Amino acid sequence: MNERGYADGEIFLYGGKPYALASGAAREGSPKVEASDGRIIVRVPSQERRKFLIYWYASETEKIARELVPRWSKKLGVRPRSVAVKFARTRWGSCSSSGGIFFNCRMSMLSEDVAQYIVVHELCHLKHMNHGPLFWDEVRRALPDAMPLRRSLREQERDARL
Ligand SMILES: [Zn+2]
Repeated sequence: MNERGYADGEIFLYGGKPYALASGAAREGSPKVEASDGRIIVRVPSQERRKFLIYWYASETEKIARELVPRWSKKLGVRPRSVAVKFARTRWGSCSSSGGIFFNCRMSMLSEDVAQYIVVHELCHLKHMNHGPLFWDEVRRALPDAMPLRRSLREQERDARL
């Protein structure tokens, strides 16, 4: 994995689109990290940028999960035991045999449709704890364009680094 410098102008993906990192003056009441106008503005000292970017992407990922997990759980007729957002180097999500699901905090770097594919993929594991044909049937029934989305994920993840 390439090293990041977290310098101004460095490109970070957010919602599948490129944003340039930019510094902002710390102000009372202003968010420490904010996406606006093609830029991700960070209002923290440079040595803290990485940490705050991870917090920010994680909280954006939590928002996505809070919206999509209940909606898709209902549609699929599943009930995850717990949902968590974690930092992980490679995996986008996982589902444990006890029904606990986690999503990578970087999920909010990806486009919405690709993030939705990840959510559906993990929820379908509550029905099939493997990647066998029945699992993929379930995923494709839920999301007919699951396979193109999977390819988009492979493309986007090259740039979805933190
Ligand atoms: Zn899987």
